[in-house]
Amino acid sequence: MKLEIKNLSKTYKGGKVKALSDFSVTLTPGVYGLLGPNGAGKSTLMNIITDNLKADSGEVFYNGENTHKLGREYRSILGYMPQQQGLYDDFTLNRFLWYMAALKGLKKQEAKSKITGLLDTVNLTESAHKKLGSFSGGMKQRALIAQALLNDPEILILDEPTAGLDPKERIRIRNFISEIAENKIVIFATHVVSDIEFIAKEVMLIKKGKLIACDTTPNLLSQIEDKVFEAELTSGELESYQNTYRVSNLFHKDNTVIARIVTNNPPSNTKLTRAIPTLEDLYLYVFEDGK
Ligand code: ADP
Ligand code: MG
Repeated sequence: MKLEIKNLSKTYKGGKVKALSDFSVTLTPGVYGLLGPNGAGKSTLMNIITDNLKADSGEVFYNGENTHKLGREYRSILGYMPQQQGLYDDFTLNRFLWYMAALKGLKKQEAKSKITGLLDTVNLTESAHKKLGSFSGGMKQRALIAQALLNDPEILILDEPTAGLDPKERIRIRNFISEIAENKIVIFATHVVSDIEFIAKEVMLIKKGKLIACDTTPNLLSQIEDKVFEAELTSGELESYQNTYRVSNLFHKDNTVIARIVTNNPPSNTKLTRAIPTLEDLYLYVFEDGK
């Protein structure tokens, strides 16, 4: 199974906003984290992959076939959880899932057994007859994931599935996605590093519509292995330090401050200790410009 994204570009507002620029990547089964700040182009990419938005140029191939030519056949193997919520607040969960099953063309018997199974999978059987509007954030996200799984998709596209969740709910959703990912190509968009740090096979870093890197976390981190330091500062030194360096973390200890920095040019006049890089350090390195 292979999804090839080739040279996708997309602009909005008559070319004024460049949302995606020559984006190419090839994906095989496993979870891919799509990591980038708000406005980086994640939703645009996902909308194009799921055929909800037309690219200005570029193509998507599924197992070597152009997805536009595959049409309905391609859509039948796709599961998509869009970013926006609240569209179906007046529906009970059960009605929502039956409605989505009908849209996906599932037969009645098939829909019935799928819905029963998925309610169990996402742990919402008890709430099947409650309105989505009354659900907590985590329950809504699980309901949206359930609808994306109705057709047993080979490609699962999740646009910020952990948005608005508390830490406990985040962990549950993240582990749940990791469990259902077997034999699927899963793309998990987020701007929260910890969401994907441990479950992603590879991480795609997207910045201003461009793919900066797609690699395993250890390989990505090896690029900054000599660039992360901890510096011991007085509180007076801190401000100028923050203006000059990407400071990824601060610990206050007695009268000193320990600042964790990510830099190509470490200062020579401060006592520095090398630190082991994390994906959060890399995020800062890639997305915080000008330092
Ligand atoms: P992300 O999902 O990473 O936050 P988006 O794909 O939503 O990023 O947006 C990428 C860029 O395109 C942003 O600058 C955003 O403001 C712009 N954009 C997205 N959708 C539209 C639209 N429908 N019309 C105009 N600009 C848009
Ligand atoms: Mg988005």
